[in-house]
Order: sequence, then structure tokens, then C-alpha cells
Amino acid sequence: MKAFVHRGQVTKVVFGRRTRSRIPDEVVLMGCERMVVLSTLNQAAQAAEMGDLMGAAMVGHFAEATMHTPVEVTEKAVAYVQSVKADGVLTVGGGSTIGLGKAIAVRTGLPQLALPTTYAGSEMTPILGETEGGRKTTRRLPEVLPRTVVYDVDLTLTLPPAVAAVSGVNALAHAVEALYGQDHDPIANLMAGEAVDALIRSLPAVIGRPDDPEARAGALYGAWLAGTCLGSVGMALHHKVCHVLGGTFNLPHAETHTVVLPHVLAFNAAAAPDAVERVARTLPGSEGGTAAALFDFVGELGAPRALRDLGMPEAGIDQAADLIVQNAYWNPRPVDRSSARALLTRAWAGERPA
Ligand code: NAD
Repeated sequence: MKAFVHRGQVTKVVFGRRTRSRIPDEVVLMGCERMVVLSTLNQAAQAAEMGDLMGAAMVGHFAEATMHTPVEVTEKAVAYVQSVKADGVLTVGGGSTIGLGKAIAVRTGLPQLALPTTYAGSEMTPILGETEGGRKTTRRLPEVLPRTVVYDVDLTLTLPPAVAAVSGVNALAHAVEALYGQDHDPIANLMAGEAVDALIRSLPAVIGRPDDPEARAGALYGAWLAGTCLGSVGMALHHKVCHVLGGTFNLPHAETHTVVLPHVLAFNAAAAPDAVERVARTLPGSEGGTAAALFDFVGELGAPRALRDLGMPEAGIDQAADLIVQNAYWNPRPVDRSSARALLTRAWAGERPA
């Protein structure tokens, strides 16, 4: 017997095609009458369309959401939502936009209705990451969870295949680390395994047939499950490495996860055989095992496989290795500086994981 603790989710989830038609009802159910729409500049038009569905309940649109949730953007957004006397926010976008909604919620208590359009999974987690003075910090706060999440598969049809590939592997990373996380539990294991299956089966189809809603639905379904795992199980070495690389060298979030995951799976494989076996059920190992199969999978998606291609300087490897072993996250296999350095060196050069 393995004892466990499972944390259930309080967020209401609506999943399907054209579910955006539910927005007006969900706003009423949240008790809101004055909603502000949040988005990046890139998705301003798509977000404005969602806002229009609310009719008179939409009182404004703030389209300056930015990767890594800079505090100065949040302060501007808070001033804006207060100036229009908003009583809730509708976030339309990926992790950057949903992060802004959470940052506003923690400062104002405003409820959030989230419409995720990537596979990052932030909408299902109580994690708030923020950047101030070039430093990124993360906190776990139950009050930042969106009240309602509406997954509309059709909103993801515009996600460019190249972005979908890295965003999908970002989701896969949440599921893989949940399979061996220190506090994983039977429900999280089921969700993580299902997420791995859905993502590995759907992502090649999303790349090959970007207009196929079934392929997009499979990937979004996997992303929802993976995000739920991220919200309930403590993450390990992979997330620590990506946090360090993103924060220190300002590397792009999903791309960094994509490059690093096969290398961390290779490092952890012997210490997490059940997790590897679960991934191998959908991704049978090549000669180099499951981690090598994952490296090949990333290549087949046409996604990046080298940190140097993301702009990381080679001279940064030593600094990153130092930071990874400082305040290290729990990991199934202990990490020392030389193994962190070896892992980073391979990932930097885009070599096969070992
Ligand atoms: P993102 O939100 O920055 O989106 C990437 C780009 O794609 C943006 O320009 C966006 O407007 C565009 N885009 C998104 N969906 C689109 C669509 N359907 N059609 C066309 N364009 C679209 O990227 P992301 O990877 O989703 O999120 C990364 C951020 O989220 C990082 O800051 C990361 O730290 C954070 N994050 C937080 C958590 C958490 O639990 N707190 C989890 C995952 C990611």
C-alpha cells in the first residue's frame, strides 16, 4: 500500500467545440456584470471578439499581457481594471495572459474566467509566477485559480503549428514530472498517463493537419489534464532547470521545456522506472530508450532540440549548473553540479540524451 494525499480541484471546467457561446452564462453564474478582457497584443482581435459575446457586461480590454508576468505590466492593468470598476476578468490566451489574470486576482480579489488558447496549463494551477527587476519568483496561492475555465477547441485552431508543437511538449513535461513527483497520487497518475497518451498521439496530427479539430481537441484535452497535474503535484528537476534557464537567460518558455525534457527523462530514467514505462506505452523506446524516443519525437514535430538555438550562451552553462543545485527541487535522483553541467552541455549542443 502507498499512502497518499490528493488535492481536488475547485475550478469549473467546460470543454468542447464552440464553447465560447457559454461565456455570457458563465459570467452571470460568476455573479459578474462588469468584465475586462485581457490578452496579448498579438491576440487582441480574437480576445475582443470573445469580449463582444458578453454584450454590455464587457467594460474594457487590456491587451498588454507579456511573457513572465512583469510586475510593471500588472500594476498598469490593475489601475485600468479599477478605473473601469471591473468586477471580473476574462482571460483569452496562453500562459502569459492567464498569468496576468492571476496577478490581478491576487491584488484585487477579482474572479477570473479563463479561455486558454495554448497548452501551457496555467489556468489549472494555483501557481503565480512574476518578474520584477529581472528576477522571476513563483508562489502557490489557491486564490489565483480561475473560477471557471472554458476550453474552446476552435480557439486553438489559430495556434501556429510550430507554437503548438512546443506548447504541447511543455504540457507533456507537466505530465511526465507528475508521474514521478514526490507527492504524486493515484488520481494524478491516471491524469498524467492519460495526458501523455493524448499529447503524444495528437501533436503529430496537429502539425500534419493544423485545421483538423479532432487533432486539436486531443491536444487541448491532454493539456487540460497535464495542467491539472502541474497544479496538484510538486514538480522536479525538469521544472527547476527550465525555471533557471528562463529566468537567467530570458529563454522562451515552451521552447526551453521542449529542449530540456528528453535530457531530464534520461537522467531520471533509472530512478523512475514506472514513469518511464508509462511514457513508453505510447512512445515505444528506440535503441536509446524512452528518452531517446522522446528526443526523436521532438525532432519529428520540427521543434527545437538545442539550447544554443534558443539564444543561450555556452558560457552560461556553468552559471546555470550552479543555480540548479542551489535550492534544488526534490528529484527522484539526486542532482550534483557535475551531472547538472553534463545534462546542460548535451541540451545546449542538441546532442541525443544520455
Ligand atoms: P504565451 O501565452 O506567451 O503565448 C505565446 C504567443 O502565442 C503569444 O503571442 C500569444 O498571444 C500567442 N497565441 C497564444 N494562443 C494563440 C492562438 N490560439 N492563436 C494565435 N496566437 C496565439 O505562451 P505560453 O507558452 O502559453 O505561456 C508562457 C507563460 O506562461 C510563461 O510566462 C510561463 O512562465 C507561464 N506559465 C505559467 C504556468 C503556471 O502554472 N503559473 C504554467 C505554464 C506556463
